[in-house]
Amino acid sequence: MTPTHHSSSADLHQLDIHALTELLQQKKVSAVEVAEHFLSRCAAHADLGAFVALQPEVTLAQARAADLRIANGTAGTLEGVPIAHKDIFVTRDFVSTAGSRMLKNYRSPFDATVVTKLACQGAVTLGKLNCDEFAMGSSNENTAICAVGHDHLSVVRNPWNTQRIPGGSSGGSAAAVAARLAPGATGTDTGGSIRQPASFCGITGIKPTYGRASRYGMVAFASSLDQAGPMARSARDCSVLLSAMCGPDPDRDSTSLDMPEEDFSARLDDSLEGLRIGIPKEFFGAGLSPDVHAAVDSALKEYEKMGARLVPISLPRTELSIPVYYIIAPAEASSNLSRFDGVKFGHRASEYKDLADMYKKTRAEGFGDEVKRRIMIGAYVLSHGYYDAYYLQAQRIRRMIADDFQNAFKDCDVIAGPVAPTVAWKIGEKSDDPVANYLADIFTLPGSLAGLPGMSLPVGFAPAGADAGLPIGMQLIGNYFQEARLLNAAHRFQQATDFHAARPAGF
Ligand code: GLN
Repeated sequence: MTPTHHSSSADLHQLDIHALTELLQQKKVSAVEVAEHFLSRCAAHADLGAFVALQPEVTLAQARAADLRIANGTAGTLEGVPIAHKDIFVTRDFVSTAGSRMLKNYRSPFDATVVTKLACQGAVTLGKLNCDEFAMGSSNENTAICAVGHDHLSVVRNPWNTQRIPGGSSGGSAAAVAARLAPGATGTDTGGSIRQPASFCGITGIKPTYGRASRYGMVAFASSLDQAGPMARSARDCSVLLSAMCGPDPDRDSTSLDMPEEDFSARLDDSLEGLRIGIPKEFFGAGLSPDVHAAVDSALKEYEKMGARLVPISLPRTELSIPVYYIIAPAEASSNLSRFDGVKFGHRASEYKDLADMYKKTRAEGFGDEVKRRIMIGAYVLSHGYYDAYYLQAQRIRRMIADDFQNAFKDCDVIAGPVAPTVAWKIGEKSDDPVANYLADIFTLPGSLAGLPGMSLPVGFAPAGADAGLPIGMQLIGNYFQEARLLNAAHRFQQATDFHAARPAGF
């Protein structure tokens, strides 16, 4: 096939997935050209530290295969579109590190289901993205893996202001999409890791209902919370990615829902007339930055203009979601991470006296501080004598948090509020203070604990002061299986505004 050169191929990275797909399907540009273009952007902007693995020969081979399918009329919905994966998804052709020394050079014998499903629709794997170690974190500062193009450990930088964190744990994903290094990326969200970095980097991301996307091949952090989802520039792009990613996987993930695949773009254009948007008062209290408050307020006004009605609601246990999550997630992590013992795979200490010593040294060397902290908390709350007081109690409150949402959804169709209390903070600002990091998760944790779908969409920028120009996201939370409704609400907003189209200077 000899595609006609698209006149502005120098600007391919400015196109979103929707526009790229059109060009590819009309054969105005080839998948190989697109892949080459994005690979060279990744190399040119290596200073951001977004990628932990690139394998141009693998990416280009996949792109050639995509071109063949386009030529013979068997193209999928994402044929030839380069997608980068958070390095929490295992992949056969790239290393799979989970941001940990423990898995530094690890090669998986199989691909995660989400990776396979995106590939089935023709997505081309661009590379693997930096993340907090085992997805534990909110700033991406917990990575233990040296980024591509760096010779020592570095943090991921926020393209809107390189002195700021990109958010986490899917920080590499958010930075890469915001900097136009990839038109779309995968992320995972256990307590906010898709929504918060999307918000901090001015992009759009959605975490589906727990169980809609298979967890097979996602390195496990807290299994009752972990969910995969897409991160891209718009709700429309996210809907195509999410449609490809979700679906039952009964043989490989026992908590995968037995629900048919869904086309999440089918209802994007539905009218918002009469949509009842619940505004939880607990999301707008003290501690919310005035900039974030103002941007969310003006987005809500825009929704009213589109025919939506704002309904005051209450999620009374919002504050409790922090202690509850930081008991349940570490408990599950301490169990999941017991597999890293130096025997089966990953790092093994080079010198040890006996088996017990090998375990100890391997884990001491392989895990970073935050991971160790969580393993210790988890082991503690699960131990005999403390189990009832902490773990069981947390499970009870988790149920009440879920009930609070069901109560709220009697009066509203979706819930809106901030994603995080502030914009992206400075690199290093909270790195010695784990509790300060945990507190910033307050608005994303409740939905995670309830297993509800949630998304983040850009609604503004900090107007002045030290934070000037940093993106602000708004969160939409839906009832179970209401992903299409969330995407519809976000898409209509993005049709009426252009925050999602803004790009950081120099990218
Ligand atoms: N910031 C939260 C944590 O550190 C959420 C992480 C996530 O969603 N993976 O656990």
